[in-house]
Amino acid sequence: MVTKFDVIVVGSGPAGATAARGLAKKGLKTLIIEKEALPRYKPCGGALSKAVSDILDFDYRDTIEKDIRSVLFSSVKGEVKKVSPEGISVQLVSRDAFDLKLTEEAVSAGTSIMEESKVVYLEELKKHVTIKTDKGERISCRVLIGADGAKSYVARASNLIIPPLGIAFQTELYTEDKEILLRYGESIHFVFGCIPEGYGWIFPKRDHLSVGVITSRSKMAQVMPTYKRFKSLFPDLEKAEERKRRGSFIPLNRGPRPLNTKRICLIGDAASLVDPLGGEGIFYAIKSGVIAGDIIPSEIEEKGYISSRFTEEINRRIVDDFNYARRFAYFFYKNPSFFYSHPFFIGLFVRLANKELKYRDILKSLMEYKRDKRKGLQLNAP
Ligand SMILES: Cc1cc2nc3c(=O)[nH]c(=O)nc-3n(C[C@H](O)[C@H](O)[C@H](O)COP(=O)(O)OP(=O)(O)OC[C@H]3O[C@@H](n4cnc5c(N)ncnc54)[C@H](O)[C@@H]3O)c2cc1C
Repeated sequence: MVTKFDVIVVGSGPAGATAARGLAKKGLKTLIIEKEALPRYKPCGGALSKAVSDILDFDYRDTIEKDIRSVLFSSVKGEVKKVSPEGISVQLVSRDAFDLKLTEEAVSAGTSIMEESKVVYLEELKKHVTIKTDKGERISCRVLIGADGAKSYVARASNLIIPPLGIAFQTELYTEDKEILLRYGESIHFVFGCIPEGYGWIFPKRDHLSVGVITSRSKMAQVMPTYKRFKSLFPDLEKAEERKRRGSFIPLNRGPRPLNTKRICLIGDAASLVDPLGGEGIFYAIKSGVIAGDIIPSEIEEKGYISSRFTEEINRRIVDDFNYARRFAYFFYKNPSFFYSHPFFIGLFVRLANKELKYRDILKSLMEYKRDKRKGLQLNAP
């Protein structure tokens, strides 16, 4: 027998859990299918910009391990710049706990969940989609949402895929040395020059450090030795125990592309909704989940299927500004220290992280800066 749902969401990460919650709240019979047992481990720096707390309307404070107010920027040459600008707030979470909280909220709203079941087959027909899991269940739905991450099966099976751009390598460092945890515990740290078109990071969690490197290059055989060289810049971390060493694709956005068919749509990493400059993906996964939760019920009610409005909304509300991010990244990675040494640009970055400004505004400010510098004028904030 085939069980029927209005919507099946594949994946219980931030994108899938948020979409499922929104849909269940609107009365749609919704099912999340997740291949792992929850809580599941996800390799991630776990840095949430302030915009995440603005977009989530429930209390997830229990999952926050650190609330950070300062940032260290440095280069491989060693000089370090510490900034604690007004308005900065970065919450650090471990993804198992944070994502579980989002999923629990979806379940409280009425979503059903099937854990440890992998979607391995799908078929889109005129009026519904049928999926099969690795346990042999067959389930059908009016709409299928692919929220199944960077290597999305749903994207591949529905021909909506582009190969992911960007690679990250991260580990978790554990040490008994309380002084080390204190030394690294106050700030998030970005290091430039250790990897092309990217950076190294050290983010403090409650009892360990998340340490890794990210590059926007889609092919990089040397990512592991690069990580090792990056880590060797910090001799005091050499003795820390490395756990969970993982290399991952990170689907940095490459521009607009179709994100839905009539019965299938993609959100989060499955739709490559990761900031192409900084690698921030959690906020955009949640935002795309919110958009799916808003649009899909009215699309089903008015048209009986998902129209191109879905892709258009995601492009308008998320992807359009990523086009400016890619252009800004070109200038940024030529000379990162110019930007992080400049109080004016630091102020803009804080407002960018808080989503009060867009990359379009930053790029405009940079162009005005170049023009005004030639004329000897003052900078004006957008
Ligand atoms: C090393 C690294 C560091 C990062 N650091 C940060 C950071 O500090 N801040 C930030 O904002 N972003 C960061 N990101 C990006 C961020 O992790 C992602 O953008 C975010 O996880 C996207 O959420 P999602 O819900 O789309 O996908 P995911 O969180 O990947 O969730 C997808 C889910 O789908 C499930 N799934 C997959 N296939 C199937 C299937 N066939 N059937 C059923 N279930 C399936 C998976 O098990 C998983 O639970 C980082 C990424 C990496 C790789």
